[in-house]
Amino acid sequence: DVVTRARRLAAVLDALHVPHQARVGTFGWNSQRHVELYLAVPSGGRILHTLNHRLFDDELTYIVADAADDVLFVDRSLMPRVWPLVDRLPTVRRVVVMDDGGAAELPADPRIADYEELLAGVRAPASPTAVDESDAASLCYTSGTTGRPKGVLYSHRSIVLHALMLLGVDNFAISERDVVLPIVPMFHVNAWGLPYAAMLAGADLVLPGPAMSPEALAAQLSRHRVTFSGAVATVWRSLLPLLGTVDLSSLRMVVSGGGALPDSLSKAWQDGTGIPLTNAWGMTETSPVVTCARLSSAHEGLDADARREVLRKPGPPLPLTEIRIVDEAGAPVEPDGTPGELQAYGPTIAAAYFGADPSPSSFTADGWLRTGDVGALDRHRYLEIIDRTKDMVKSGGEWISSVLLENEIMAHPAVHEAAVIAIDDERWGERPLAFVVPVADRPLDENDLRAHLAGRVASWWIPEKILILDEIPKTATGKFSKVSLRALVRDGEVAG
Ligand code: ATP
Ligand code: MG
Repeated sequence: DVVTRARRLAAVLDALHVPHQARVGTFGWNSQRHVELYLAVPSGGRILHTLNHRLFDDELTYIVADAADDVLFVDRSLMPRVWPLVDRLPTVRRVVVMDDGGAAELPADPRIADYEELLAGVRAPASPTAVDESDAASLCYTSGTTGRPKGVLYSHRSIVLHALMLLGVDNFAISERDVVLPIVPMFHVNAWGLPYAAMLAGADLVLPGPAMSPEALAAQLSRHRVTFSGAVATVWRSLLPLLGTVDLSSLRMVVSGGGALPDSLSKAWQDGTGIPLTNAWGMTETSPVVTCARLSSAHEGLDADARREVLRKPGPPLPLTEIRIVDEAGAPVEPDGTPGELQAYGPTIAAAYFGADPSPSSFTADGWLRTGDVGALDRHRYLEIIDRTKDMVKSGGEWISSVLLENEIMAHPAVHEAAVIAIDDERWGERPLAFVVPVADRPLDENDLRAHLAGRVASWWIPEKILILDEIPKTATGKFSKVSLRALVRDGEVAG
């Protein structure tokens, strides 16, 4: 079983002389072997470093060098991706290949070892090592949406507390009766804590392996009678065309996080499945979940659409965690919808970035994390995310939220996806530029779209420039890549 195999794996790490607190890198899909690594690496006092294999070569080599990974565990199908880089990774002594059904040929090289052969060669499984709860257990880098990825360390304490905090929220509370399929990759902030929470609760875990099509994913959700799943919004959107064709009636809870949850998606999902798509907000720096949507007694009596709207926004914090909105002077504002910088405080929030000097600009003098997100609290202290500070458009001295504008554009029936960035403007300083992907086979009329917006946003929010794209460029984790969109404009590939 998984625990016995994880104990054998811990013995393998001993045999490979991987030092205490050394980083063990993983390039893997969501699989049982990845779960074995999630357990074995920290329990032996080493640091699990999950790596995003969709990053560019330069980002990958930067991250492995920054973390100084000692050993890498690589799914066989990812070897063609990883092995060509290995000579640029001087700290890596061994590459252990895990069989994921991929057919990649392996080069003959003494640094390469086979996962199953190593496990089979172990004489006795390792007994659990005593670890200090404040020791680092894992390391994850931020998504690199706004710049170079930054490393964040999680302690044993924070991983266990995070799982317990998730279980302490009624709609999240995973139990033995749940079947959990984490679609969110296991390289992305501990897969949002879902594997640890599911294991702690005794739920079944379905691990779908190599990336799959929306059709295959929907089939997995249906075949395994999955009750709980989490993914970024773009994944849920890709399942929309299939909702009538598969039986998803076993689902009780689906979570969207990592980016905005558009109204059009939330509505289409609820109409198609009868269950709401629930928003959660977090960051790599926060282990990651800080707030997740839920209904309280204050929402009794709301109609179905109003309840859906409550769950579409990230909602209140998890137990033991606090959030506040501050004004430009850093003073907390009233919970009356006033926007400002979102700050967070709690036992699962990292105190500094890995390797770097403690970055004072990321934390306040009283130890709260400055998130770089703009949010607002309603009178129930429920959170709404307005935008990233860096993505707000400052037009004529007033702020336009790129996220809220995208949300209204995507409410148009002929729009599949939309992303908004700021472009320089002589008169107003900045103006919004909208990139729009039309629904397949549906012509989009720009003036019709502007007329649609006129009823929904202030007139000065309406973009003069609307550009049609086949696809919005996405980051390795599936977020809209505004850096790439800005580069398109800067490099003159589209007329901004
Ligand atoms: P980097 O910090 O390297 O630029 P990143 O911020 O995208 O990348 P993550 O830690 O993966 O890296 O993402 C956290 C960010 O994702 C948050 O700061 C926020 O901007 C966005 N985000 C997460 N959840 C939500 C949500 N529910 N609604 C809106 N935005 C969200
Ligand atoms: Mg960030």
